[in-house]
Amino acid sequence: MRLTDMGMGTVAEGSVSTSDSRTERTGRDPGTDPGEGGPDAPAAILLVDDKPELLDSLHQLVTLHGYRPDKALGGQAAIEALGARAYDVVLLDLVMPGVSGHDVLDFAARESLPCKIIVVSGDASYSGVKHALHRGAFDFVKKPYEASELMATLETALRQCRLEADNARMAKRLEESEALHRFIVNHSPDLIYMLDRHGCFTFLNDRVESLLGYRREELIGRHYSEIVDPEDVERARHLFDERRIGRRAASNVEIRLKSRRRSQGDRVFQNHVVWAELTAMGVYRDPRERRREGFVGSYGTARDITARKEAEEVINFQAYHDLLTRLPNRALLRDRLSLAIAQAERNKRKLAVMFLDLDRFKVVNDTLGHTVGDRLLKAVANRLRSCLRSGDTLSRFGGDEFMLLLPEIRTRDDVVVIADKILDRLNAPFSIDGHELYVGASIGIAMYPEAGDREEALIQNADVAMYHVKGQMRSGYQFYAPELSHQFATRLSMERDLRAALAQGELTVHYQPQVDLVSGAIAAVEALVRWQHPVEGLLLPERFIALAEETGLIAQLDDTVQRQAFADAARWRSHGAPELRLAVNVSAVQLAQDNFVQRFAANLDAAGLPGSAVIVDITENTLLRDIEVIVPRLKALERLGVTIAVDDFGTGYSSVGYLHQFPVSALKVDGTFVGDIRADDGGAPVLDAIAAMAGGLRLSLAAEGVENQAQLGYLARRGCGHAQGFVFSRALPAGAMSRVLAEDPYRALVAAQRRSAAAASEVL
Ligand code: C2E
Ligand code: MG
Repeated sequence: MRLTDMGMGTVAEGSVSTSDSRTERTGRDPGTDPGEGGPDAPAAILLVDDKPELLDSLHQLVTLHGYRPDKALGGQAAIEALGARAYDVVLLDLVMPGVSGHDVLDFAARESLPCKIIVVSGDASYSGVKHALHRGAFDFVKKPYEASELMATLETALRQCRLEADNARMAKRLEESEALHRFIVNHSPDLIYMLDRHGCFTFLNDRVESLLGYRREELIGRHYSEIVDPEDVERARHLFDERRIGRRAASNVEIRLKSRRRSQGDRVFQNHVVWAELTAMGVYRDPRERRREGFVGSYGTARDITARKEAEEVINFQAYHDLLTRLPNRALLRDRLSLAIAQAERNKRKLAVMFLDLDRFKVVNDTLGHTVGDRLLKAVANRLRSCLRSGDTLSRFGGDEFMLLLPEIRTRDDVVVIADKILDRLNAPFSIDGHELYVGASIGIAMYPEAGDREEALIQNADVAMYHVKGQMRSGYQFYAPELSHQFATRLSMERDLRAALAQGELTVHYQPQVDLVSGAIAAVEALVRWQHPVEGLLLPERFIALAEETGLIAQLDDTVQRQAFADAARWRSHGAPELRLAVNVSAVQLAQDNFVQRFAANLDAAGLPGSAVIVDITENTLLRDIEVIVPRLKALERLGVTIAVDDFGTGYSSVGYLHQFPVSALKVDGTFVGDIRADDGGAPVLDAIAAMAGGLRLSLAAEGVENQAQLGYLARRGCGHAQGFVFSRALPAGAMSRVLAEDPYRALVAAQRRSAAAASEVL
């Protein structure tokens, strides 16, 4: 082992002696001699001469000084020795037969041997010395040599070796330490950087590539703002450019960086935002003395917290949004509303809150399923969005309820325009999964400050106003007024009472006769529900049907009425009125129930009433709701023998073109058209048109709300088969109806009517 091989700080010094072939040698170890503090290594010295006696004496001399040199007799032996192992110093004779000292020098140069060669030669000519030095000799000692001069030269060469070894060792250590630090820095999960005093990068670790998609070299010398998201550049100024140190320096500050990294799914490079937590500090030439002139730049680390931020954003979004429509939810709306109120108060402005409830959503959801229901809600949300201005907030409150916040309103008229626009948009049909769906909306409006100056009051009052619209049974809007609150409270108690009424059997059925306009016989009776309210007395359907529909209680109500009416009708048929038929009203909600047909059939069975004795009254608007669901149900009823009649015909929004799609066999003209018939002029054009249409479609025609003889006569002339109304009788309790059926009292009236009609036509 040579002195120069000892450079590795990591190599154990003990290994020197064991790996060294000359461990048998004893005596003074000159390796420590130079005093440079290097490791304890024996010097490897080779003595070369072609004369054995000179070689021996040289050996003796060097050994005498405590070294353990090797000997090579002649140039060839020297080359072999140099090839076999490494030497620190070679004492080389120049003039040798065969392979000369010059050849050995050439060999050493060729092989780049690091040993120091001291030429010991009698050829002291200038050219000889120059030649030797030129070929890489370290020094030259003239033969015959002075022992002290030779040893001094040898020692100098050895010291030189030692110095070089120490240097190499230090360089190696530095290199290793730097490699280690570079490794640590580059494998840091954080971005590490240094900026100069102008904010330009002087150092970046490798992390910048994976984090931001820049190569380090691209950024060196560039200003830090190039990697900061434009939104955060202002904030970044006080962060990246940190001049403070210690606890006051920026620590874990969140900031958005710009990344060019290709993220999953991207086909091209594009900018992304990377959220980072930045920690920075100033760097000073002398950290103890933080003077402006001593400021070198700043050092910082940036930790990628994008995943955490994204998770936070998702959680935040979920907390404040409705995930189906992605609209703000109740919590966010309340937040924005309280802000808007504060602003309106400051600016002395108005604002409006609109509570919007879809009118027929429940039916769609119940009949076509939640997937269609969800799609419909999304489509509604989109239409609503298109009605709003940028400062407005549309939120979903849950179910089919939406809330709109309209700040910066000047007058009520502004709100009316928006409400009309919304109703218009929502009244147009929605096409969802091949279904054409109609949903209207009921809108309640509360204005700040008239309807309240706190968010709860405004929301609640908009709700109250909305409920008022619901009660009107058609799409529309209503501004809140204090008297509505009272009505609302009444409604709530009515709802509670109605539930109780259903449970306690407070609902009864009255019957109104339908008279055959040819024979005057009672062809049918219509079952009409009544509520024997414990406090308010007998209530008519107009007081509670709308409420029952909204709350869904109507299905139970219809079922109750039908069971009662089927039993009464079956009794009448078996006691003197075998041909009597029964008309029952079926609501959209009842019809939409999955087991509707089965229950209806079971109720008929239970009463022993044949389906052919029953007429089902369905309003025009119910028919149009969900054709796909309703048509098969009506067909199933028809198979039971039931007749389907379109009730309140002429009041719906629909065209008549749809009628042939339904298994409908009768039309009931609404009482309002019958009311158009006046004794004086006799003209009722809508009724005439309906009568003509019923004739054309071969549908039987009945009229309701017939109040006088003139109307009766007019209807008879228009070919109306049956009539129902006060002209004959109001709706009666079952007992009274039994008596009327027994009396069969209308034949005379109808006959008189026919006679007077015939007389009139004779006169004409
Ligand atoms: P509707 O099916 O059109 O029933 C006819 C309504 O007209 C009845 O009102 C009846 O009393 C009234 N009426 C009869 N003749 C005359 C008349 O000459 N002049 C006037 N002005 N009105 C007359 P009612 O009993 O108050 O029922 C109102 C509505 O409530 C019914 O209209 C029907 O749509 C609904 N309804 C009644 N009972 C039930 C029921 O059991 N289930 C369902 N789903 N709805 C029902
Ligand atoms: Mg009816």
